[in-house]
Parts: sequence; structure tokens; C-alpha cells
Amino acid sequence: MAKKDYYELLGVAKNASAEDLKKAYRKLAMKHHPDKNPGDKQAETLFKEINEAYDVLKDDQRRAAYDRFGHAAFEQGGGFRPGGGGGGGGGGGDHPFGAGFSDIFEEMFGEFMGGGGRRGQAQAGRGSDLRYNMEVSLEEAHKGLNTTIKVPTSVPCESCKGSGAAGGSQPVTCTTCHGAGKVRATQGFFTIERTCPTCHGTGRVISNPCKPCGGTGRTRKEKNLSVSIPAGVEDGTRIRLSGEGEAGLRGAGAGDLYIFLAVKPHRFFQREGANIYCRVPIPMTTASLGGSIEVPTIDGSRARVTVPAGTQTGHQFRLKAKGMAVLRSPARGDMFIQAVIETPVKLNKKQQELLREFEKAGSEKDTSPESAGFFAKVKELWEDLKD
Ligand SMILES: [Zn+2]
Ligand SMILES: [Zn+2]
Repeated sequence: MAKKDYYELLGVAKNASAEDLKKAYRKLAMKHHPDKNPGDKQAETLFKEINEAYDVLKDDQRRAAYDRFGHAAFEQGGGFRPGGGGGGGGGGGDHPFGAGFSDIFEEMFGEFMGGGGRRGQAQAGRGSDLRYNMEVSLEEAHKGLNTTIKVPTSVPCESCKGSGAAGGSQPVTCTTCHGAGKVRATQGFFTIERTCPTCHGTGRVISNPCKPCGGTGRTRKEKNLSVSIPAGVEDGTRIRLSGEGEAGLRGAGAGDLYIFLAVKPHRFFQREGANIYCRVPIPMTTASLGGSIEVPTIDGSRARVTVPAGTQTGHQFRLKAKGMAVLRSPARGDMFIQAVIETPVKLNKKQQELLREFEKAGSEKDTSPESAGFFAKVKELWEDLKD
């Protein structure tokens, strides 16, 4: 059975004043009091309901909660009570605010609570993350790389060991928040938690600040960092070095360092995933007669490629496993040689004569079947157009 509306039970309007509520309650309570209605179960139930309704509506905060969330505000036991703080306030146990209500509260106001109980205080004053841009060659991306980089960053202050307090003195508990790192402020019905403005959430303040670091517990410094770039990295790869970012405030956790990798373009090789493409010009004579060419490979060595007689432009030679290393894998991509046959230029007299001889010595249909075939078809086209 649905619960009756508290205002209806008391027979008052939603905006009834506290005085009206009291009057209505008194009248109804008298009327339905069990002493006046002995043995009347209905009256007894009604009397209980009236009391429950008045109990809620006479309290401004609970009335506001009821107006907002209806009976859901008081369902189930335990949990949240407005005015939070120490709890145990007057009559708390008799009128528990429900777990359901507590959830609504957290959802709506979680963001104002500075992440309070959820993220904890460990993150207060955490150092910033740093970004370091690094350029590597394609060869380095293939091989992997161990190097040292200089990172301008903040490190824990040596004089105070990062505490921020001078001469061995200790930070003391913050008097604003009594070490909690957050403060509560009551705004009407709700209690809002905020990060303590005095200690910025650390719960401690420094009465005698360390001079070299001005009490922050950290100093600027360029630090050398060994970095290991794994084989097979790609352009745009991000490498996270946990805890190598800026030092935290007064001993709080350090941020992370992110290395953003850019792979420089290569003068011969184009990379596509793990494969490497290389455009290789081949002299007309080699392409016609057959032969071999030597090409560089990404690992710094050479590969000999056999060029069969009659190789055409656009032909692709595949060199298995001569491509890029694959990140965190023993696999390797392939290398593709793309043949581009070069037409001879700047022929001397002798060469020109020889080529004319060559032309006369055989049929173009046999030596250049593709062009011969093509022009034969073009001729047909022109014939057809005449008709
Ligand atoms: Zn210091
Ligand atoms: Zn504080």
C-alpha cells in the first residue's frame, strides 16, 4: 500500500506555516488518540500516521527533504543525517535518513565535496604530469633505443627532505581543519565539504618554512632520466614513466612523465604499419636483360634483389621479414621494393645508333608487346570512328 502524503494526512497545504501544522496536528491527534477510541484499530493506525507526518514536517530540514524526495527520503534505516558532523544529534536513531536518500545526496553534491571520502587525501598536492617531446629516426624506432634525457622538473628539496619545514622542524596539524584537509560549511539544509583553504587539503601547515624551497618542499632542477624506447614504436606513441613527473607538494606523490614520440621521415623508406616500402629506380638495361640490385635495409645492412629479365615499372619485390620490428613481439614486417624502370637519357651518338640497330633487329610486337598491343587497339578505334 502506498504511503499517504504527509500534508494530506494533516489536512494542510504544502506551504502551511509551522503554526498551522502544529494546530492541525493537535486537533487530529486529540481526535484519533487511542485513549479516546479504545479498540478501534483504524484510529490507532491513523494516529500513528499523523504522528509520523508531524514528526517529519515540524523539522525544517526533514520537511525540505520530504518536499524534495517524498517518502523516499526516509526509507530504510541508518546512513545519512543532515548537519553531518559528529552524528548522534538529537533523536537521530529514531528518524534515520535512508540509504536511498544518502545516494541521491552524494550524486547531487559529490562534486561540491571536493571528492572527499572517495579519492581520499593521498592526492592532495600531487605533482603535475610532464610532457616530453622526443624525436627518433625510423632506424631507432625499429631497433629500440636506450638514452638519457634531461627533464627540467621539480624534485624534493634536499634541505628539508621534501617536508617544506626548516631545520628539522615538523609540519604541524592545520588548525583550520584540525588535520582533516577539508572543511564543512552548512548551506541551508545541506552540508558542503570543501578542501581546506589553509592547508590545501594536506591537513598540515608549516610554521617555520624551509628557505631554499620556500616551504613548498620542492626545488626546480634538471634531472637526467634513463629512457628505454622499445623496438617497434610508432609515430605518436606515448610512454608513461610513472612518478617521474613533478615532485609533489611537501612530500605528496609525484606526477608522471609522458614521452611523446615522433618518428622522423626517412629519406628512402616509407613505413606502413610494420611494412616498409622503398621505391627503387632500375636502369633500363638491367630491367631488360635481368640482373641484380642492392638495397639498404632498416637494420643497417644490405639486401641483394634479383631482377628478372623483362621487369616492368610498378613491379613489387617482397623481402620477407626485412620490415619493421613489431612492438612487444618477435614478429617483423616485410620490405617491399617498388621497381621504377628508368628510361636512358643523354644518349651519345654510339648509343643512339645501337638503339636504332636494336629496333631494326626485331619486331616491336615481341619486345614491347604492351605498347604494340595498345597502339594496335588505338588504330582500331580511329578506324571505327571513320565509319
Ligand atoms: Zn625545503
Ligand atoms: Zn587545513
